[in-house]
Amino acid sequence: MKILVLNAGSSSQKSCLYYIPDDDRSESILTELWSATVDWGQQQGVAHIQVESNGIVVEETPQTQDRLEVMNRLLTTLCEGDTAVLESWEEIDYVGHRVVHGGDQYQQPTWVTDEVQSAIAQLASLAPSHNPANLQGMEVIEQLLPQTWQVAVFDTAFHSQIPQKAAIYPLPYQYYEKGIRRYGFHGISHQYCAEQTAKLLKQPLQDLNLVTCHLGNGASLAAIQNGHSIDTTMGFTPLEGLMMGTRCGSIDPGIILHLLREEQLSPDDIDQILNKQAGLLGISDMSGDMRDIVTEREKGNDRAKLAFDSYIHHLVKAIASMIASLGDIDALVFTAGVGENSMIVRQATCDRLNFLGIKINSEKNQNFPRNEDIAAIDSKARIFVIPTNEDGAIAQAVWQLAQKVHQ
Ligand code: ADP
Repeated sequence: MKILVLNAGSSSQKSCLYYIPDDDRSESILTELWSATVDWGQQQGVAHIQVESNGIVVEETPQTQDRLEVMNRLLTTLCEGDTAVLESWEEIDYVGHRVVHGGDQYQQPTWVTDEVQSAIAQLASLAPSHNPANLQGMEVIEQLLPQTWQVAVFDTAFHSQIPQKAAIYPLPYQYYEKGIRRYGFHGISHQYCAEQTAKLLKQPLQDLNLVTCHLGNGASLAAIQNGHSIDTTMGFTPLEGLMMGTRCGSIDPGIILHLLREEQLSPDDIDQILNKQAGLLGISDMSGDMRDIVTEREKGNDRAKLAFDSYIHHLVKAIASMIASLGDIDALVFTAGVGENSMIVRQATCDRLNFLGIKINSEKNQNFPRNEDIAAIDSKARIFVIPTNEDGAIAQAVWQLAQKVHQ
């Protein structure tokens, strides 16, 4: 079975083609045949394509940002030139899409139908930079591969069993009834890391209390119990919770009222400030990239130091609150760009969690750990670094759904 996965964000789109042998019914074994990234944001009117397969990397810059044209070009590299891995597009059995917001209707991977597409469109106001891009991806596939079945895998789904007491905001109840509640995001990544952790520990996921830290440009934590997320730091939108690269995370909502009334800023201005000019970038006034912050901090830049310290402060507080939601912790898991690569962030975070008995092995932490326990022997909880694999997890979800149909 060949599954194409599309993971569309606001300014880029990752695509991967996976092969899963048809004869293996118990657990899917994924082979990545081809991967590609389209960057829409580098230059006005131009898309930047990078394709990787057969051990080579090919780059192109089509002079258009028309999604259909660019995707057509991109998918042509599956069958033509040095990157070809297929005879024709007809070999693609299914296309899986990461969909950021599924509201409370969609709690499982779902076949894409007109009804599902209109629900995703209706939810666009809750995820304005993602859901429309996800939908466009589906429409493009409908045009280019009209015979191919498509599956939507939702980033909110893993959080759908968060208990009502944690999902509801303490606002007048009517707003909860209108859908203003905690949804949570990065669910595909949190679920993948939780499953990997259970495998590494050789224990059933159902028996584990886990805190997974997805620390990328966007960042969120999940408290996982009985194999489900029971609490998470992101909320109604991906703006709540941790301090991030350019997003503020949780702030006093009174600040927004103040900016509206006293600074006469418009909702769009405030949106821009909270999503694009805050977080590490806002405090450092230099960069939203943790690598730059760490480098500048080491050179003695005070604002970079403040941005770093504040990031760790918010992260540690939020981890402790997730542990409180669980009532216990078996493992703390780091993933995504910062979580997988920044030994300094992991060390600073775990050092501050010593009071809970969480202790890191500094040597293991520095040794570029992957799928590895880096806790000290006498730590109360294990500490894992797990490279996230959202696209692979989407392919697995599509495979599982397809197995049900064919049974
Ligand atoms: P996204 O949320 O866009 O998927 P990623 O998970 O790829 O992002 O994370 C990207 C971020 O990871 C970068 O902005 C950078 O801050 C951080 N990052 C990547 N490598 C390192 C590193 N070696 N040290 C610190 N931070 C890193």
